[in-house]
Amino acid sequence: MSITDNLQNIKSTLPEHVTLVAVSKTKPVSDIMEAYQAGQKVFGENKIQDMAEKHHVMPKDIEWHMIGHVQRNKVKYMASFVSLIHGVDSIKLLEEINKQAMKHNRVINCLIQIKIASEDSKFGIIPEEAKDILESQAFSELKNIKVVGLMGMATFTDDQEQIEKEFKLLKSTFENLKDIKTENCELKTISMGMSGDYKLAIDCESTMVRVGSSIFGARNYN
Ligand SMILES: *Cc1c(COP(=O)(O)O)cnc(C)c1O
Repeated sequence: MSITDNLQNIKSTLPEHVTLVAVSKTKPVSDIMEAYQAGQKVFGENKIQDMAEKHHVMPKDIEWHMIGHVQRNKVKYMASFVSLIHGVDSIKLLEEINKQAMKHNRVINCLIQIKIASEDSKFGIIPEEAKDILESQAFSELKNIKVVGLMGMATFTDDQEQIEKEFKLLKSTFENLKDIKTENCELKTISMGMSGDYKLAIDCESTMVRVGSSIFGARNYN
């Protein structure tokens, strides 16, 4: 099936309140253009330089989401255009995003990545640490970022119960933190769910799913 067919099939199953991020990492501009022409305007990349190159040559009404781990020294390459940074996991990173956003006179929206998987390899911080950051004095001084939600990645496993348990942990963390309402913090988004588990994620009240291979086909990393 074509990218257009895949997109339309997935979109027809998504509730209206769920945002689809089409994960286009490793995929060529021609594939992304096909999705764009089929009406998709939100794309996710996991490498800042790839995202910047694609942003440069593609229509400017695309919303680019950074879904990968962010190195502080590369924030400057996306600060002028990125719409949402999903993988924020420290106050130091928030400070760098704030600094770069200020140079462009923007407020950059961010999600805090919560570690919900049992694997060691997944990035993110524990819920208590997220709470400490959002309530800190240092955070309150950052006027050019806004934390608008949480992001999580479940363990890579076939065990649906385990994945469900992890999604529910993200949802309950969201419920616990959403009372923290300040000028630069208002949690609305729960980014969870990928090709293999986005339906389960939506059942667990995800509001944003990040789907790549089910739209664009398997990735080739060579
Ligand atoms: C690659 C990636 C996805 C999409 O994965 P698929 O299984 O291809 O849908 C989603 N989220 C993150 C953080 C990713 O790196």
